[in-house]
Amino acid sequence: MNYKSTRDINVNVTAAGAISKGLSADGGLFVPDSIPQLSKEKLLSMCDMSYADRAYEVFRLFLNDFTDDEIRHCVNSAYSDKNFATENIAELSHLLTGTYMLELWHGPTCAFKDMALQILPFLLTCSAKKTIDGKKIMILVATSGDTGKAALEGFKDVDGTSIMVFYPEDGVSNMQKRQMTTQEGNNVNVCAVVGNFDDCQNGVKAIFTDEEILAKLEDANTVFSSANSINWGRLAPQIVYYVSSYVQLVKDKEIEYGEKVNVCVPTGNFGNILAAYYAKQMGVPIGKLICASNANNILTDFINTGIYDRNRPFYTTVSPSMDILISSNLERLLYHLTDEDDKLINEWFGSLKASGRYEVNDAVKQKIKDNFYAGCCDDAATKETIKKVFEEYGYLCDTHTAVAYKVYEEYKKATGDDTKTIVVSTANPYKFGYAVYDALGGKDECADEFELIAKLEQLTNTTCPKALADTKNKEIRFTGSAATDKMSGAVLDFLKAQEN
Ligand SMILES: *Cc1c(COP(=O)(O)O)cnc(C)c1O
Repeated sequence: MNYKSTRDINVNVTAAGAISKGLSADGGLFVPDSIPQLSKEKLLSMCDMSYADRAYEVFRLFLNDFTDDEIRHCVNSAYSDKNFATENIAELSHLLTGTYMLELWHGPTCAFKDMALQILPFLLTCSAKKTIDGKKIMILVATSGDTGKAALEGFKDVDGTSIMVFYPEDGVSNMQKRQMTTQEGNNVNVCAVVGNFDDCQNGVKAIFTDEEILAKLEDANTVFSSANSINWGRLAPQIVYYVSSYVQLVKDKEIEYGEKVNVCVPTGNFGNILAAYYAKQMGVPIGKLICASNANNILTDFINTGIYDRNRPFYTTVSPSMDILISSNLERLLYHLTDEDDKLINEWFGSLKASGRYEVNDAVKQKIKDNFYAGCCDDAATKETIKKVFEEYGYLCDTHTAVAYKVYEEYKKATGDDTKTIVVSTANPYKFGYAVYDALGGKDECADEFELIAKLEQLTNTTCPKALADTKNKEIRFTGSAATDKMSGAVLDFLKAQEN
C-alpha cells in the first residue's frame, strides 16, 4: 500500500515517506491508496489478543514498508502498562445497558492524544531511518493544550529527536500549562506565545518554510517534522481503538459479532471521528458516526447542510480542545467521499482559503447523511450534563466527553435509534478541574488548583491521576514567552542549545 495526496493523486509515497514528511508538498494530506479489509475471521481472532497485538494487526495493513519486527517493536514499546495506567490501554466503562464510555485517557498525560503520541516517536524514527537516514529530527508543535503535552511526553529523550512546543499564553487550562512547563527530558523546550492558538499555528507554519532557518537547520544535519493530527502516523493509531473496542464488546458478550454499534465522538480537528470512519470502511460493523461539537459548531452546520463556512465568531469554551474553526482532517473524508477527486478537493479547499467557505455537491451530501449525524451543545448544557451523568450514574466525565454525551442523548431522542453506542471519552476530568467542579455546583473560591483538586476528590469520591497530582511538586522549567515575531529566534536558540 502506498499513499497519495488529497490534492494530487499522482503523488505516490510509502508509509514511511508519508509519516516522515507529515504533509504533502502540494499542501494536501496523505491518504492510503486503498482501504484494507478486516474479515470476520480476522476480527474474531483478535478477541483474545492484547491491545498491542490488535494494534499490530491493524498496522500491518497500513505500514507495508515496515518489517513485522519493526511494527512489533513500535506497538510493544508504546502500548504497555509501563506507559498506561491500565493493562487494557483503552477502557470500556459501562454507563448503562448498551452505552459504553470508551476511556482513551489512561496514558501518561491523561488525554486521548496519548493513544497516538505514545507510538508516533517510534513510527517516526523508524520511518526516518528508511527515508532520511542519519538526520536528526526537530518536532515543532503548536498546541491548544493536550497535543503539546502528549507530544513532549512521547518524544522526551528519544534518540535523534528534539521537540519544541508553542502554546497560547492565556489559552490553556492551569493544569495543561503546569503539565507542559514542568516537562522533563534533555531534548525538550516549551515556549508561551503572546497571542492565541492561531498565532502559534501560523508562527510554526512560517518557521517550516523560513529559508534562513532551513539553511541553519541543514548545517545542523536536522529536519523539521510535525506531530499534529495531519500526520498519518497520528491517524493510523486512532483506528486501532475502534477495532479493539468492537472486538472487546464481542469478547465480553455485550454484542454478537455483526451487530452494529454507533460511535459518538467529541470533535475538533476531525481526526478522532475520521479514524472511526476508516474502521467502518475496513469492515468493523459500525453504524452511525455521531459528531459532537461545542459552541464552535461549524461541523454541525457542515454535516447538516453541506456548507462549510468559517466566517463566524470564535468562542472560547470550557472544552478548549474543540475550539477550532478549521478541521483539517475533513479534507481526508471529502477525498474519499468524492471517490478520490483531487480536482474537486483543490476547488473546495482553494475556496476555503480564499473566501472561508465552500459547498460540497449533492452526491457527497448524501454520503455524509448516510454515515454521520451531527449536534452541538453550549457551555451551560455541557456543565448540566456533567452534573446529570454524575448524579444518575456516579460517573464523572470531563467537559469534552460531556459534549459527546449530551449530543448522543439528543440523537436518541431525535431518531429513536437505540443501537448500542460507544461514547468516546477523551480526557480525564481533573485536566479541567475548575469547570468540572463548577458544573457540580462547587463554589470555586480557591485560587490554588491543588486545593480545588482536593475538594473535587472529596465531593465526587474519585481520585486525581498521579501524573496530574505529581505536577504540584515538579520544578517549573520553562517560563519563557515570546511575541509571535520572536518564535523563530526561540527555535534557533533551541537548535544551538541542542547542538552543544
Ligand atoms: C484533541 C481533543 C479533542 C478533539 O479531537 P479531534 O481529533 O481534534 O477531533 C476532543 N477532546 C479532547 C480532550 C482533546 O484533547
